[in-house]
Amino acid sequence: ELAAGWEAVCPDPTTLLGTAPALTDDTGEVEGLLRRRSEAFATVQEHYYREPPRIERGWRHHLLDTDGRAYLDMINNVAVLGHGHPRLAAAVARQLHRLNTNSRFHYGAVVELSERLAAALPAPLDTVFLVNSGTEANDLALRLAWAWAGRREVVAVREAYHGWSDATDAISTSVADNPDALGTRPGWVHTVPAPNSYRGAYRRADTARYGQEAAASIRDLTAQGLPPAAFIAEPYYGNAGGMALPDGYLAGVYEAVREAGGLCVADEVQVGFGRLGEYFWGFEQQGVVPDVVTVAKAMGNGHPLGAVITRRDIAEHYRSEGYFFSSAGGSPVSSVVGLTVMDILRDEKLQENARTVGAHLRSRLLELADRHPLIGAVHGTGLYVGVELVRDHQERTPAPEETAAICERMRELGVIVQPTSDRMCVLKIKPPLCLTRESADFFVDTLDSVLREGW
Ligand code: PLP
Repeated sequence: ELAAGWEAVCPDPTTLLGTAPALTDDTGEVEGLLRRRSEAFATVQEHYYREPPRIERGWRHHLLDTDGRAYLDMINNVAVLGHGHPRLAAAVARQLHRLNTNSRFHYGAVVELSERLAAALPAPLDTVFLVNSGTEANDLALRLAWAWAGRREVVAVREAYHGWSDATDAISTSVADNPDALGTRPGWVHTVPAPNSYRGAYRRADTARYGQEAAASIRDLTAQGLPPAAFIAEPYYGNAGGMALPDGYLAGVYEAVREAGGLCVADEVQVGFGRLGEYFWGFEQQGVVPDVVTVAKAMGNGHPLGAVITRRDIAEHYRSEGYFFSSAGGSPVSSVVGLTVMDILRDEKLQENARTVGAHLRSRLLELADRHPLIGAVHGTGLYVGVELVRDHQERTPAPEETAAICERMRELGVIVQPTSDRMCVLKIKPPLCLTRESADFFVDTLDSVLREGW
């Protein structure tokens, strides 16, 4: 079955929406297991819906729940290839039969994955550390910078998310109720305003000022004797809105950081690996080359895998003072996953698909915005799209109750889509990169019919 390939195993299941056959669970075991597990399973993900769907399997850009209902998955920035990819499943099965162990050995796949990653990045980024998650990758990036600069100050962008370890949590404000309440954060954390061209101080009028002011505040810090060891940002305004950074934003900020002797870290955990369509990496859109790049999510298509890619001198400096070891980071199976994901992205032209289907999706959403005043704006590049839901176009007041109700209703109609936060109410659309034009239309038509119900 696996050898038969993707299409044979799994034709585009859009047609199955609402009609998918129930999964075989004669014994009730699956249902029972899920219920038991849900009591012990502590995660914020559970709170997106009043009653979280119990997902049992996935096919391409669809999910099936235990009642056999199919959902279009518009939020999965992890499973970029889609769910249940037969080629990936076969590669993992083969490697599990051959070897899986900790990362103390050199074997073909780890060498090849490191080389492939380095080759996918511009010079001089040529040295790779393999880890298990985005949090670990960003944690290590901070350590590299602290060792390199010999000091601790870090500048991060507000409304960003970089992970949940002590250090990455300290620089993440997107999950805080009030991102301006920085009082409880460690003294080495400094932030610059979110460059949000829809809601921020300068809106669309003068977006260049975001970069100029961020660079100025970095120079101020340096003048006060607190030069940053690192500046870290997603090279796309991802977690808070799904929109590109203002043109030239990173170039100006990176210049100020480098004058201070600090390292520029690009967190590509969400946007890297072709999601932006035109670009394989988010930093390309900004025309810069970072000193450190962190990746995860897409790299493993859901398997725990991440990496830090940096310059040789930075890596060697860290190794001369510090220590890095990860038992499972870059294990044989993880390395095979990483390599196969890169092969499939290339062979199935998924970056190209993100470009064309993403453009179609955005143009259809813009048509919808003309008809539905609740849509304040449509942002995005490739298959990372943000739809702002607002109560009025002048003040751009977020619409949290409406947004939550719309997401619930979309789910009833077979679409999983979720907002950023109550403060911002942006539908963050980041589906698997295999999304088809037909499924993009299904999403827009469903949103249209929900909005017609009246909000
Ligand atoms: N960085 C960004 C931009 C993210 O979106 C996330 C996760 O959402 C992380 C880092 C943390 O990655 P992980 O959940 O793999 O630890």
